[in-house]
Amino acid sequence: MNPTYAGSCHCGAVEFTFEVDEFAAWQCNCSLCRRTGAIYHRVEATCFHLKEPLVELESYGSKPLISHKRCARCGVHTFSQVKFGHEIGALYCVNLLCVGDIETNKLSVEQFNGARDL
Ligand SMILES: [Zn+2]
Repeated sequence: MNPTYAGSCHCGAVEFTFEVDEFAAWQCNCSLCRRTGAIYHRVEATCFHLKEPLVELESYGSKPLISHKRCARCGVHTFSQVKFGHEIGALYCVNLLCVGDIETNKLSVEQFNGARDL
């Protein structure tokens, strides 16, 4: 069984866990992601577990391909639900900056040219 990591928003109203075999961190330079600074890691839906949020999850996406989920209380972007290449809901991108046990500055982070390719 793969290690499980836990993530949350700042206020703790949104909590999730996910299983990881190996980290493949990436950042996107699209007009939204370059503003939020999220460092993503793709997780299959079967390995992603969202605890019932204490507040509503806000959804935002400048394109219909992906829905970014933010805590309605503290505003932190916790994860995104991917809507392309898979059936809706089959793939998530967790924001590794929301995961306390990961030193993101020690990860190799690939750059995705979303400004060009999305
Ligand atoms: Zn919050």
